[in-house]
This record gives sequence, structure tokens and C-alpha cells, in this order.
Amino acid sequence: MTAFRLDLTVLAESRSRAGASAAASRGPALLARAGEGDALRDEDLATLLLASDVDTGLLLDLASRRRGAGSRLETFSPLYLTNECDAECAMCGMRGINSKLVRETADDRIVAQQLGILHRRGLRGVALVTGEYHHGPRRDEMLARVGRAVVMATELGFEHVLINAGSLEPNEYQAILEKLPSGLDETTAPRLTMCTFQETYDFSVYRRFIGSTATNPRTDFVRRLENFDRAIDAGMHSVNPGVLLGLHRDTAFELLALLAHARHLVARGAQVYVSLPRLRKATGTAHHAGVSDDLLFRFAALVSFGMPEVRVVISTREPPLVQRRLLPVIGVLTPGSPGVAPYTEKGARFELEASQFEVLDKRPIEAVLADAIADGFTIAGYEPGTPA
Ligand code: SF4
Repeated sequence: MTAFRLDLTVLAESRSRAGASAAASRGPALLARAGEGDALRDEDLATLLLASDVDTGLLLDLASRRRGAGSRLETFSPLYLTNECDAECAMCGMRGINSKLVRETADDRIVAQQLGILHRRGLRGVALVTGEYHHGPRRDEMLARVGRAVVMATELGFEHVLINAGSLEPNEYQAILEKLPSGLDETTAPRLTMCTFQETYDFSVYRRFIGSTATNPRTDFVRRLENFDRAIDAGMHSVNPGVLLGLHRDTAFELLALLAHARHLVARGAQVYVSLPRLRKATGTAHHAGVSDDLLFRFAALVSFGMPEVRVVISTREPPLVQRRLLPVIGVLTPGSPGVAPYTEKGARFELEASQFEVLDKRPIEAVLADAIADGFTIAGYEPGTPA
């Protein structure tokens, strides 16, 4: 199968028809059809996103019913290995030219300690996070750190390890995968998931926020779009795209593009996670304005309803009340800190001046997950009260 391509003509036509349908009040009829079990096209889902005469609560109920009662959640926590980055994303505290951020990088000893802490606190899933780097010695060293951290996490007994280290080349995937058992898939441990959020599927918005200079390692829009295809070609079976809600005003376009990308990845046989972070405050940037709670709820509900086979990921960027409203329609709740090596045996550091972005829910991981358990959810990737 060829790598993913955005068909902008098809998307633009579909977006235009969705807008016209919503304006013509076709949303309530689509909602009724969905409630009766009819499958909706992605264009219909975009219509429902835009339909001012369709209540958000009804969309959440629809998605919740489709997921079914007694739903299981999954969890993992982020572990930032560094906040160094060579890219220049305007909305991010970690961008290389941000002189206001306090730079930190954890060595292997600290990473091992941090993984040990998370494991003792019951986590069985971890996302290893770095920036994105120019080709050269620094990139090689950072990716080698990631590779060593994947091995450490595996040896400690983590069942799910996510890599969030930018777009990789085929040889870089091989270098990481060759240290792990072959044949990794949904049933093997660890499951390995590649995370690279496109942030926005609109090329002009991408250039405005992510940059356009050739010296910036993240400006190649198409290379990023094809990163999961390279991951799958290299032998990975689990991928995590995402959009940063608030970058592009046209969220119906983002919904259509994200669904197209996710459907391509499912067709390639991958387990797909979909992250829906909202733009948040970060040190040294004025871009703080994510979408409203209401729009986040609608977007998450429609992804969940439209593609129940994908797992929608929500983090503790969101405050507790927003998490609680979303729990019935998401697949993954990720608590933790975006600071570098921030975890203690009972808590975490959350200094904005040394973090990628602001997190609104700073409660301990255990408290966040206890709330979900109290609401009747079971949580894969978490074994409370079972220290290593
Ligand atoms: S969003 Fe990622 S690639 Fe861009 S500056 Fe931040 S850490 Fe670097």
C-alpha cells in the first residue's frame, strides 16, 4: 500500500458540502439515523460537528452508547527525556530558539530511576518524549537515548511503550527495533507505538506555526505525514496521530483529514490511537487559545463514534471536569507531567518554565486514575498497589 496522501480536492469538496448540510439543518436527521444504527460517512460526521441545532450532550451519548457499557480505559504516562529541540514550533515552549525555557536532559541513570518510579506507582505504559533534531551527532545521540530507554522500559516490565521523538528514517526505526523481540504486535510485550502529531492537516497553518525554513527539522509536512507508513514498513503495528486543537480554526477540515489519515492506517493493519490535545499556555509564546470545551467534546465524540476501532487519547492537560465528561467516549487517559524526569514516589514537578506546555490537572497519577476507577472504569496499563 502506498503512503498516506491528503487529497485536498476531495477534502475541500467534502468540507464544503458538510458546511452546507449543517446550514440546511440536516444535522438532526443525521443524528437520528446514527441513533438507529446507520453508519455515517465522514462528511456526515463533519456536518454534525458544525450543526448548531444538534446538542453536544446528544453527540456524547451517541458515542458513549456505541462504545458500550463497562468500557475499559487504557493509560500511560509521559516521560520527557529532554526538553532540548532543534525545531521552532511557534506554540511550543521547547522550541530551540526559546531562550526563556530552562533546558534539561536526563541521563540514562535518571531515566532508569524515573521508569522505576513509574513502574512502582503502578504504570505499565510509558511514552518516551524528546524534541526533533537536525541530522547529525545530536540527533543520533538523542535517538540512541530513546532506544536505550525503550530497552530499559521493556526489561522493567512495561507492557506498552510509546515513542514521541519526531519523524524517523527507516534506518532509525531499524536501530530501535533491532534491540527488541521481533514480531511485535498487539499481543506482544511491549507493544510499541509511534506518536507523531501532525498538529494541523492544513499546509498553510502548518507553515505558519511549525515553520518553513529548510534548516528546521520539522518543516517537511509530507515527510511527517508519511512517518507512520515508514513505521509500519519497519515492523511497527501501533501508531498515534493527533491534531492540536486551536491551531486551525476550521476544525471540520481537521476532523475530515484526521479521519482520512486514521482510516488509511487502519487499512494498513495498525492499531490507531488518536490524540486530541488542546493548545495550552507555554513559556515564551503567546499562542494559548485552544478550542472551547464544547468543541472539544463534539470533536472527541465524533471521532469516537465514527471510528470506534481507534482509541481517543485525552491527557491531564484537561481539567478533571473535562476529563470526566469525556471518559465515556475515549479509550485512553494519560496523567503525568511534561517536565523532564519530573516524577517522585508520590508526585511530580510541574514547572512551566522547564516544560513543553501547561498542564491543568496536577494531581498525582494515582488520584487521576482513582477518579476514573470510582466512576466504574477498568484501566489497562495500571496496576495500583502492586509495587515492583
Ligand atoms: S512541538 Fe515538538 S518539534 Fe515542535 S518545538 Fe515543540 S518539541 Fe520541538
